Amino acid sequence: MIRPDTFLFDNSYAAELEGFYVPWQGAKAPEPRIVQLNRDLAAELLLDPDALAGEGGAAIFAGSDVPAGAAPLAQAYAGHQFGGFSPQLGDGRALLIGELIDRHGVRRDLQLKGSGRTPFSRGGDGKAVLGPVLREYLIGEAMHALGVPTTRALAAVTTGDRVLREGLEPGAVLARVAASHLRVGTFEFFSAREETEKVRQLADYAIRRHFPELADQDDRYLAMFREVRDRQADLVAQWMAIGFVHGVMNTDNMAIAGETLDYGPCAFIDGYDRAAVYSSIDHRGRYAYGNQPAIAQWNLARLVETLLPLLDPDDGEHAIAVANTEIEAFEAIYQKCWLERMSAKLGLARTEADDLALVTEVFRAMDGQDVDFTVLFCRLADAARGDSTVARALFADPTAFDAWLPSWLARLEREDGGASSRAAAMDRVNPVYIPRNHKVQEALDAATAGNLEPFQRLLTVLERPFDRREGLDEYEGRAPDGFGPYRTFCGT
Ligand code: AMP
Ligand code: MG
Repeated sequence: MIRPDTFLFDNSYAAELEGFYVPWQGAKAPEPRIVQLNRDLAAELLLDPDALAGEGGAAIFAGSDVPAGAAPLAQAYAGHQFGGFSPQLGDGRALLIGELIDRHGVRRDLQLKGSGRTPFSRGGDGKAVLGPVLREYLIGEAMHALGVPTTRALAAVTTGDRVLREGLEPGAVLARVAASHLRVGTFEFFSAREETEKVRQLADYAIRRHFPELADQDDRYLAMFREVRDRQADLVAQWMAIGFVHGVMNTDNMAIAGETLDYGPCAFIDGYDRAAVYSSIDHRGRYAYGNQPAIAQWNLARLVETLLPLLDPDDGEHAIAVANTEIEAFEAIYQKCWLERMSAKLGLARTEADDLALVTEVFRAMDGQDVDFTVLFCRLADAARGDSTVARALFADPTAFDAWLPSWLARLEREDGGASSRAAAMDRVNPVYIPRNHKVQEALDAATAGNLEPFQRLLTVLERPFDRREGLDEYEGRAPDGFGPYRTFCGT
């Protein structure tokens, strides 16, 4: 059995934000079983992995048993989904179990996703199934290993239920860990109800939790907004740098803390394509790869709108003017983040005036060429070492690449140590292994059919994405032609 002192909860959301949630409990799972436990993360949370690995842990992670000290609750939030406002979403199939202070003194949410119906479930069954739970596990952990801020997976469990989706599928729950689950949509929930004091209370809570250095500033709400904006700009720049497509950047899926949140219909691009869309419901490409920065800015505009009464309680026009300036600034901030990330991918450590043009040019060269985005940057490191033949061969028509290559190599020579010395730095930021869509699908299909081996192997590969290893060639390349166009689904 799990000892009562296993989880040392410290539940600030439950204690400080009454009225922002409904206390609730998970459904009873017939036969909870751990599929995967993240032992390193457990240790980081000062939990005992051995104690959690057994039946007691499975029942807790399934939502069946409430551990001592937990204050399980369903959070209220709203959100703009594909541009349209839904005033009430909320945790329809998730529960915040409590908060833990980790080894570094950081407060982290422990949330269960798929633990049964709540007052926010609307027509949904409150459940999740194994494939999507393992997808979130895999991709979240891969993102973490890639250095991208993200929620983490602590455990995946099956419940023993069969849940109706396309057919009957194994019911499952993901235990996930987040800096918090405060979303843009949490602010929208209270703003839409014109509950300004609740928006203020929420903002003060967010500041205490995520931006404590701002707490004493008179303009702390504006300062908080700037912080959220800047973190989002860098987050999306990091997504762009690894070819990640979130797929459902609704405002309820944008975390105030700046972590990647809610892995639903996400995917990674193989061939470089700004228009890449994988989600089966994103017919207009709103959340396409290349649209992500603009959507982040749009979502931030929804956030700053909720803060207007706090920015200037007496002069609405002035508040709007201030907000507009801050929103417009996103573009330049994003471009700076993007340039930094992409410069690093190209091995640039110093900055020079023409770097933006140089980086922009390589993207122009990739346009319409269906060049494998991940492989190209690995092969450019080879080019820095003196062999550009493989990189060049990735282009069907290398004319633009040929024009670009000498200017980049000349630029690299101006770095300390010259081009060859920058190749090792490129290897440290350009992943060899990303969650290739076909490998993810293969792993999830096998897991759903009862074979976890491909999932566990893929997870192990993705835990060290920059480190090329023997025998893992099949994880490096793009999908075979027979794989066809990839489609992903949300809410599954
Ligand atoms: P998501 O697509 O997971 O970001 O969820 C969007 C909204 O739909 C949230 O309010 C979820 O809680 C809710 N939701 C998604 N799937 C279910 C489900 N199976 N049962 C109840 N609510 C759900
Ligand atoms: Mg969501």
